[in-house]
Amino acid sequence: MQQWEADDARRKHMARFRRRDTAPELALRRVLHARGRRFFVDRLVSSRTRTRADLVFSRARVAVFVDGCFWHFCEEHAHLPKANAELWRTKLLANRQRDARHDEVLRAEGWKVVRVWEHEDPVQAADRVERELALWAHIVDGRRASSTPTSPLNRTTTPA
Ligand SMILES: [Zn+2]
Repeated sequence: MQQWEADDARRKHMARFRRRDTAPELALRRVLHARGRRFFVDRLVSSRTRTRADLVFSRARVAVFVDGCFWHFCEEHAHLPKANAELWRTKLLANRQRDARHDEVLRAEGWKVVRVWEHEDPVQAADRVERELALWAHIVDGRRASSTPTSPLNRTTTPA
């Protein structure tokens, strides 16, 4: 086995037992909890892609992923291992493309997808998540308002 393959196998092995409750994820969860938000953790969101999201707001259908800078190839911190840099670049770019494909499937299934970088400030990340939740609340309120039957009293005062 070549060195690169050996490294890759080891990393795959580590990735399979995906680290849960990483520091950036915990930080985001803490901020959202403090703001009274409730959500599921590490939950399957698409049976088609077998995608699990880190935070899931099932009613609002918002799926949040906290992406590690290395594996998801963050532009600010992506730093390729010196050995076999080109192979790593190809592999990590493929990871990003896979993320994008999975996002597309999820969006087609009615999810709002929020991707948070592990380097991102948890307060700002929480703001982004809450913006999606607010959008959903707005839609639901709109629906509720339009489905409210007009009372006869109101009807008589409504100009024709
Ligand atoms: Zn980063």
